[in-house]
Amino acid sequence: MPATYEATLEFAQDLDRTDTLYSFRERFLFPQHNGEDVRYFCGNSLGLQPKSVSYLMDKELSDWARYGVEGHFKAGYPWFSYHHFFAERLGKIVGAGKDEVVAMNTLTVNLHMLMLSFYRPAGKRYKILMEAGAFPSDQYAVETQVRMHGYEPDDAIIEITPKSGASLIEDADIINAINEAGDSLAVVMIGGVNYYTGQFFDLENITKAAHAAGAYAGFDLAHAVGNIPLKLHDWNVDFACWCSYKYLNSGPGGVGGAYVHERHGNDPRLFRLAGWWGNEEKTRFKMQKGFVPQKGAASWQMSNAPVFNMVAHNASLDIFEKAGIQALREKSVNLTGYMEFLLRKITHLPFEIITPSEPARRGCQISMLFAEKGREVFDALTNRGIIADWREPNVVRIAPVPLYNTYEDCYRMYETMMEIE
Ligand SMILES: *Cc1c(COP(=O)(O)O)cnc(C)c1O
Repeated sequence: MPATYEATLEFAQDLDRTDTLYSFRERFLFPQHNGEDVRYFCGNSLGLQPKSVSYLMDKELSDWARYGVEGHFKAGYPWFSYHHFFAERLGKIVGAGKDEVVAMNTLTVNLHMLMLSFYRPAGKRYKILMEAGAFPSDQYAVETQVRMHGYEPDDAIIEITPKSGASLIEDADIINAINEAGDSLAVVMIGGVNYYTGQFFDLENITKAAHAAGAYAGFDLAHAVGNIPLKLHDWNVDFACWCSYKYLNSGPGGVGGAYVHERHGNDPRLFRLAGWWGNEEKTRFKMQKGFVPQKGAASWQMSNAPVFNMVAHNASLDIFEKAGIQALREKSVNLTGYMEFLLRKITHLPFEIITPSEPARRGCQISMLFAEKGREVFDALTNRGIIADWREPNVVRIAPVPLYNTYEDCYRMYETMMEIE
């Protein structure tokens, strides 16, 4: 990493030339603007399509045509075992054993299914602690879980807000609130990286505090997975879920993922809603009475794998495997650092950066909170081929993604912002 950054095109291009991950961008398809690739800063919302997807999709279609039902065992990636092809690669990304993760369903569905297992309120232990301003789907999920058990959200949900005047929530405030809630607390459920500010929470110490209070710790990792290397197993996290269409580039509505720590996943007494795909594989096709959960997170599966929905996931995880999540993180810290350096040079537009500056407290997203004109700036960027992301009421989010963004992209973003009046 250079000791100091410079706000010049030459400097940015020099960094690109020495970037060992530079060529990975050639594996993706970029939307076009005036006949050129856009500068795509929206990988935190919808990742780009790997070029290999269409080949793999064609192959899956021809296996179906060729084998019909026998494709369950004869297809190139046999459908019977399809979810197994992801576990090891996903495990490396989230820091878990291959039995602790499973690709299935979609994010909010997985959140509900895991809450059904881990939110079992009883007596005075019935509260859920979460961050204020969580992604709406998470808020709705938690609200309705609470109501399903006969509680009122106002009473049963503890929301942690930023200190007055601040835009970020301090980890220490979360931990203090957990300690204070003590034996009233059933579950801590927090978004690992906040979608709005880009703040990465201290999952390890939040988990420790939750356990000390006798509660479970679960995380929604939608904006963390594929962005920041995680150590879910070592951090002792109880459960987690994520989607794959953001940093994991697996396409709109792409298959979600779930993690369950092995101490729970291998405990058949823990309640889980059952379907045949979660049953022991040996006896799955015996069609017998009586659900016997297989080992690990895979026992939360209900239905057979939506193979066509998982093709892009397969393509994308191959790319992650080749690049390596640690190497991606190293580039990411530097790339986002450069983007922040450039944005801080812009003084004629009324915005402040609300994402933490410390690399350990963020991934590759930077959120700019505008006092005014945010929407105009966003539209002007779009019109010049720079794809950012707009969040009501007044935030422009950008994500320099290490797999396919360049230092030159960051420089062009800065240059364009400088041109906007
Ligand atoms: C993107 C996102 C979702 C979306 O949920 P889906 O079920 O995949 O539609 C939910 N929660 C968070 C925190 C997200 O970032």
